[in-house]
Amino acid sequence: MSLIEVKNVKYAYNYGSQDAIVAVNDVSFGIEEGEFVALVGHNGSGKSTLAKMLNGLIIPLDGDVLIDGMNTRDDSLLYDIRRQIGVVFQNPDNQMVATIIEDDIAFGPENLGLDPKEIRERVDWALGAVGMEKHKKGMPFRLSGGQKQRVAIAGVLAIKPRVLVLDESTSMLDPKGRTEVLNVIKRLNKEENITVVLITHYMDEATDADRIIILNKGKIAHIGGKEIFLEEDRLRSYGLNVPTHIHIANSLRQGGMDIGQIWTERELEEEICRLL
Ligand code: ADP
Ligand code: MG
Repeated sequence: MSLIEVKNVKYAYNYGSQDAIVAVNDVSFGIEEGEFVALVGHNGSGKSTLAKMLNGLIIPLDGDVLIDGMNTRDDSLLYDIRRQIGVVFQNPDNQMVATIIEDDIAFGPENLGLDPKEIRERVDWALGAVGMEKHKKGMPFRLSGGQKQRVAIAGVLAIKPRVLVLDESTSMLDPKGRTEVLNVIKRLNKEENITVVLITHYMDEATDADRIIILNKGKIAHIGGKEIFLEEDRLRSYGLNVPTHIHIANSLRQGGMDIGQIWTERELEEEICRLL
């Protein structure tokens, strides 16, 4: 059994009324412990709806979501499910509960009933991980959007979940900040074996993943490896762009240059240096 199992899941908003909107339609996939999966899709493809189903914030109309075998339909399991799977949502403003940043980060660990020393350690560790240690005594409302997103990620990290789901959680960061935060996420995945589900429409971020799941109009359009990045027309048909560096490599190759397989920006740099 996979750590995350999504089985034939369907969800519609305003269900039963005339303006029902089917957001997720017969979606199935599994995610193994320790994987780094990118869940990508155009605006409105159902990514956030799926994210909310992963931690039981909304319950599928059809099908099941199982986290470590626990079904989100079972209310009595929701506490345990949310200990295992931490979701950072799109809008950080909805995720801050306290007036001082360190109290905000402490909120999750406090709810786990941890002792004060452990809570303090986790607060420092989580704020350090996202580069916000200097703002420990600060007030969330004074922060920029990007800083709020870092704090929102720290709040979830402090729970030390087995699975970290990031729903466009770096969208307000500048490119440098985004790279920094993504590097932290990658490190947690590699070093602490935290399973990562990175929800994004920035295809450049998806090239870091082990596996790519593409949602298109509420349905799965692709589950598999990075080979999908070579199918530029197909990606465009889902309303997705092609990662810039992969597009450059594809173009150079089509132009007859001897470019090997590259997936990351760094690999492209190395290939170009080799050719020069
Ligand atoms: P994504 O995160 O990929 O942009 P969403 O899951 O937010 O997609 O949305 C999927 C579909 O559901 C869209 O058509 C969106 O308009 C609709 N939707 C999302 N949230 C609501 C809501 N609270 N009420 C009604 N429709 C919604
Ligand atoms: Mg969304």
